[in-house]
Amino acid sequence: MQPACEHTRTKIIARRDGVDYLECLDCHQIFEDEDLDPVKVEEEEEEE
Ligand SMILES: [Zn+2]
Repeated sequence: MQPACEHTRTKIIARRDGVDYLECLDCHQIFEDEDLDPVKVEEEEEEE
């Protein structure tokens, strides 16, 4: 069991198609830079 990592420390390991790939220095998870952006579209989608 490990606490949820907030990926506060990352480094860019690659770039492809304009997307930066980051590796978390704490949990070593690899993800796209876009995934790091806070996604708060759910509330706006409710609007109609
Ligand atoms: Zn992490």
